[in-house]
Amino acid sequence: SIVITGATGKLGRHVVEQLLEKVPADRITAVVRDRARATDLAERGVRLAVADYNAPETFDGLFAPGDKVLLISGNEFDKGRPQQHKVVVDAARAAGVALLAYTSAPGTLTAALADDHRATEEILVGSGVPYTLLRNGWYHENYTENLTPVLEHHAVVGAAGEGRVSSASRADYAAAAVAVLTGEGHENRTYELGGDTAWGLAEFAAELSRQTGEEIAYTPVSVDTFADILAGAGLPAPLAAMLAAVDASIEKGELVVSTGDLSRLAGRPTTPLGEAVAAALKG
Ligand code: NDP
Repeated sequence: SIVITGATGKLGRHVVEQLLEKVPADRITAVVRDRARATDLAERGVRLAVADYNAPETFDGLFAPGDKVLLISGNEFDKGRPQQHKVVVDAARAAGVALLAYTSAPGTLTAALADDHRATEEILVGSGVPYTLLRNGWYHENYTENLTPVLEHHAVVGAAGEGRVSSASRADYAAAAVAVLTGEGHENRTYELGGDTAWGLAEFAAELSRQTGEEIAYTPVSVDTFADILAGAGLPAPLAAMLAAVDASIEKGELVVSTGDLSRLAGRPTTPLGEAVAAALKG
């Protein structure tokens, strides 16, 4: 089987959707925490398995020898994600899976957000399980999913200075994951994945202006101010600080990815930012 953890998450849903175009549904297992949120997948013939990274026993017997597994990194930043991910790695090793692919972060990213990913990579690579590191760059959706305050204030606020980011859509990263899970020769490979075109926040503001017909400007702020703004918008302070620190990394060019790995794996160019903006504006 091809097994996807985090299958009811936003990236996981794209992966399952694209897998369904390539392989019979009964060869796909969606690992979910809440079966009720995956009834649509079950109705389409996808197998469901209920498991939680916090409960190692729930992964007992979940994998079979020869499975190809996608471990989608969790989002519980305060729960020790490397240990959570190790639960999946241990179960995969015990079962003798053929491949364990992990959604990581760019090798160039030094922001603290990358620490859990580096630690997970070490666990996975050291486990002896055939692995693929999918070092996903930033999502377009990090910028396009929450445009309401931007449109309201006519301002793109960020702490990335003139830095650029090679973002791509979740669907693009999903396509790369699907290529690895359904293709051959990806064992023990590391892919640095990012969009074909890097852009800066000023260009993002210009694109928004063009598409809305309104004057929207980039307002650069300091990392501390940006952390305060994110916290003010309701993010827990530690998460706000962690995300603001990513902007400092962007200013240093750490989220520019120029390997071409993503479009090569996907077999097509990555989604242009303008397309993601248009989709978001349409709602
Ligand atoms: P989501 O938050 O939509 O999905 C996270 C998934 O992880 C969910 O399916 C969630 O399960 C699952 N999960 C979390 N904790 C556990 C647990 N304890 N046991 C089992 N499953 C768990 O994020 P995305 O799909 O958008 O992104 C995938 C991952 O990529 C994120 O979790 C994060 O690590 C990383 N990320 C990358 C970004 C980027 O720009 N490259 C931006 C943001 C995140 P459930 O569906 O039950 O909630």
